[in-house]
Formats: sequence, C-alpha cells, structure tokens
Amino acid sequence: MTDGQTLLAVFVLLYLIECLRLVPSTAWMAAGTGKSGWSPLRPWMRLQIGSGSPLLLSPLPPMQAHAMALPWLFVPEQESLRVRLTDSMSVSITWDKLAPRVEESTLHLDTVTRVRLPSKTLAELWQQRLIEWRGLTPEQRRSAFLKYARTTLDTKSANTTASATSQLTRSLRLCATIHFMWCFGMMSVLYHRFGDSLIVLAAAGVLLLLQFIQSWLFLRSTRKSRVIIPHRRWRALGIAFLPQLSMRAFDVVNLTTDAEPPHPLAWRGLMDDKRWLESARLFWRESRYVPGWPQNESLPLEAEALEKFFRHEGIAEEEYDPPATAKLPTCPRCSAEFQSGMTACSDCGGVELRQPVA
Ligand SMILES: [Zn+2]
Repeated sequence: MTDGQTLLAVFVLLYLIECLRLVPSTAWMAAGTGKSGWSPLRPWMRLQIGSGSPLLLSPLPPMQAHAMALPWLFVPEQESLRVRLTDSMSVSITWDKLAPRVEESTLHLDTVTRVRLPSKTLAELWQQRLIEWRGLTPEQRRSAFLKYARTTLDTKSANTTASATSQLTRSLRLCATIHFMWCFGMMSVLYHRFGDSLIVLAAAGVLLLLQFIQSWLFLRSTRKSRVIIPHRRWRALGIAFLPQLSMRAFDVVNLTTDAEPPHPLAWRGLMDDKRWLESARLFWRESRYVPGWPQNESLPLEAEALEKFFRHEGIAEEEYDPPATAKLPTCPRCSAEFQSGMTACSDCGGVELRQPVA
C-alpha cells in the first residue's frame, strides 16, 4: 500500500465510524428525503453496548436525512410494568419493585433492568411518567397508556417532522454528497494518475474549501435550532478541518432532538405502503397473540391501542391480520406450521395455535 492508499483507507474507516450511532436496541431509523419513500434501518440488536445497540446510518451518497422512532417501551399491566428490551425480549417488573433512576440517557428501572433512551431529557421524562403511573389505579394506568399511545401514533406529525428534518439539512446534505464524491472518487483517481503532485495538492485544497462551506452551513442551520446542540462551535471547527465530521454534519442537525419519538407505525405514508403493512402486521401479531389469547375476553392493552389506530386510519382487519389459509395448525404470532394435534407454539412462549378451518 502506498502512503496515499493508506490515508484513503484511514479516511474510509473514520467515515464509517462517524456513521455509527449507539441507539436504544428497539429503535427504528428512517432514512430518506422528501415526503415519501423512506426506508427503515434497524440497529444490530445482538450487540448490546451500554444497554443500547449500534446502528449504521445510511452511508452512501446521495446523503439521506434520518429520523428516529421507538416502539412502546413501557406497557402497564395489572400487577407489573412490562419493559421492552429488544424486539424479542421483554421483562416484567412488579409495581412495588419499580424504582426509576436516570443516569445520562439510561433509565434504571430496578436493581438489574436498564433501558437506553435517545436523550437524557427523554430518560427524565420517562422517570417522571413511570413514577406517576406507579401511583395510579390499574384503570387509570390503562387510560394513561392509551393517551400516550395515541400521541405517538400521530401520522401527520411524524411525517411532518421527518420531512422538515430533511428540508432543514438539504444544503448540508448536498454539500456532503459533493464532498464525498470529491474525497473518495476524484481524489483517488487523481492520486492514482498523478501521484504526489501539485494537482493532487490543489484537489485537497478544494476538499478543504468544501469543509469550510460545510462548517458555515452547519452554523447557519443550527443558529435558530430549538434544541441545544452540545459544543456547537467546537463541532463547527471540527467540521471545517476533519473530512469525516464534515461529510456527516447533517446527522448532528437531524438527530439531536429532545422530542418524544413517534411509534414506527406513525410513519404511514413516509415508508412505502407494502413495507409499512409488513411492520403493522408484525406489531399487531406481537401484541395481539399472547399466551391465553383464545380465552381472553378483552384485547391486551397494546393491541387495543393498535386496533384503535388501524380503525382510525381506515385499515381493514384482513389487511393487518390476514386469516389463516394453511391446512395445518399455525402459530398466529410467528406463522410457524405444526403437525395436526399440536396446540401451542413453544418458540412464542406457549401461544395457542390457530386451528385450520375444516
Ligand atoms: Zn410461534
């Protein structure tokens, strides 16, 4: 490897590190521009660091804006609070054991359970909310949850926020796209052709100029921002001199927020319809088909909130809960098929199977 190639490899590595974010393990990230066609990204849940998981933001140009959503992490039940740790893992903490305590953006719930939230402000908000819920009667908790669920499923507000985010960083992203092409495309071609020469030095000068522009754009777009961007001026200095910070400056603008993130299903219209419906079915199955479902008279709380939402959005039940067509008993939660005579799915904690219609 020549010196130039080594330098390029280091730049690529630094750039990829800059695209990594530590997010709550259950988080959803939407990447896109404009008002629709955004695609969801998920963290690498198997890796747990500081009660969160790493997520790689969309790294390739044209640069895309990002917005975060969170499923319902805390669901009140009769005797306990159910806490969602990952997509497949939840724990229940009895109300008298619940003692929420905030440490940076991590919320400790009892002596062992902790959850990472997107910001310290949100962790404090949840601490307060959970203390409040703890003091309520079961019926009051139910309605407090339904009220919270409704606000997180506001599709109009979630869509507006995401497209406003993309609008706010439009020039930053455009400049980052040019910068990326220049840094990883043009510079390597020129270096390959001319080696250590004046032309390559001039190209590096253009790179620096782009970084200065980016730094100015960053200061301009964050001047009136409602949330405080930590060390804003120092960051601007970094953007002016470090290519990887410069190329990802828009992430800081997009992802520094204290607002309560929406539920991923509030992105209806932002994601394409097919993808959205897939996620809707997934969330529905998980909340609706819990052990004991055929006998339970009322829906579980989360399913109740989702059903209200689907009805409000005018989505028919066959769409989010398609009827079984298999000739064998099927698990309504994970869709696995079983031999005749089986009645429960052990993978899903004993969820009763749906028997085929004769
Ligand atoms: Zn199952």
